Amino acid sequence: MSAIRLEHLVKRFGGFTALKTMDLSIADGEFMALLGPSGCGKSTTMNMIAGMERPSEGRILFGDRDMSGVPMGRRGVGFVFQNYAIFTHMTVRRNLDYGLRMTGRPAAEVAKRTAAMADLLGLTDLLDRPAAGLSVNILQRLAIGRSAVMEPAIFLLDEPLSNVDAAFRSVMRTELKSLQRQFRQTMVYVTHDQLEAMTMADRIAVMDHGVLQQVGTPLEVYNDPANIFVARFIGAPGMNLLPGRLAETDRGLAVDLGPLGLTPPLPPGLAAAARGGKAEVTYGFRPEEVHLDPEGAALHLPLLLTERIGARNILHLGDSDAVRAVFPAGATLPAGGTVRFAPAEASVRLFDTASGRAIR
Ligand code: ATP
Repeated sequence: MSAIRLEHLVKRFGGFTALKTMDLSIADGEFMALLGPSGCGKSTTMNMIAGMERPSEGRILFGDRDMSGVPMGRRGVGFVFQNYAIFTHMTVRRNLDYGLRMTGRPAAEVAKRTAAMADLLGLTDLLDRPAAGLSVNILQRLAIGRSAVMEPAIFLLDEPLSNVDAAFRSVMRTELKSLQRQFRQTMVYVTHDQLEAMTMADRIAVMDHGVLQQVGTPLEVYNDPANIFVARFIGAPGMNLLPGRLAETDRGLAVDLGPLGLTPPLPPGLAAAARGGKAEVTYGFRPEEVHLDPEGAALHLPLLLTERIGARNILHLGDSDAVRAVFPAGATLPAGGTVRFAPAEASVRLFDTASGRAIR
C-alpha cells in the first residue's frame, strides 16, 4: 500500500513545463532521495505526491490506488518542509502530541508515543519548555518529530535540513535514517545536497531541468553515471570530464584530448563499446581514482594549485584547471612543475559528447 508510483507525470505552470514526463517507482519502505540543482523540479514532484499540486498529465499511485483527486488530508502522508511549522506558543510536548490528540487517541497511547518520539529525537528534557525561544536546530527536529509521531506510512521531507547548522545536519542525517529504519516508512526526501542523498537514501533519483536523469543506489550513480550531468553533479569535486575525439593509435583505440596534448588509451571494454559510434566523446574519471605515475607513460599536466583541506588534498592540473586529483592528507605530492598521473583503468568512463549519454 505504501509503494509510490509516478506514471508519466508532467507539471506545467502556464507555458512553462516544470516537470517533463517523470516515471518513477518507489518501493514500500524505501528511502528515495530526489536530488538535483535548484529549479530542477524536485519540490514540484514532491508537492504532487503530497496532493498540494495537481499533475498536468499522468498519475500517482499509492500501492494500487490512484491518488488523482484525493486531497492532501486524505492521503495519509506526513510532510516536513524546509521552514518548520511549529506552534511557538505551545510547549514542545503539545507540539509533539498535537496530531495524536487531534485524532482522538486514548491519552495513555498519546503519552507513550510522544515520550518514545521525544526520546528518539533527544527532546525529552525539553518537553515542558515553550517552543518560543528554542534554536532553529531544535525547532526543525521538533517539526520532524511532530510529523513522525503520527507514524505515516509515507513520509515526505522537502529540504528539512537546509536551515540547520552544519554540525547539527550531520547528527540529523543519522537520526533520520534510524527513524526510517525503526518505522520502515516509505520516505521521499528532497535535497540539493548530495551528501544527504548519498548517506541516507536507498536510491537516488537525480533530476535536472524537469527531467529525471538517473535512478540508482548511491554507489550506482557515483560509479556508473548515466550521463555527463550526473557525472559532474555527483562527487565533490565531480568527475573529471575531458572532451575529445576517438583516435586509432598503435596502443589501440584512444581519445585525442586536443589542446591538452594528451591521448589516453581506452580500456578494452570501453574501446569495444565506443568503436563504430560517434567520434566526439568525453573522457571521464573520478578525482579520487587518480594515482601519480612519475615514471610511466602517464598523462601529464602542469600543477596549477594544491588545495589542502584537512583530511585530503586536491591537485588542480592543467592551465585551464582541466583535471582535479584528490589524495589523502599524508600522501607525498609534487610541489610544482609537470605532474605525471594516470586514472585507475577501471574508473575510466566515456560519454557521447553530443547526447551526453554514457557509452558502456
Ligand atoms: P528549489 O530547491 O529551488 O525549490 P526545485 O528543484 O525544488 O528547486 P521546483 O520548486 O520544483 O524546483 O521548481 C521547478 C521550476 O518550476 C522552477 O523553475 C520554478 O520557478 C517553477 N515553479 C515552481 N512553482 C511554480 C509556480 N507555482 N508557478 C510558476 N512556476 C513555478
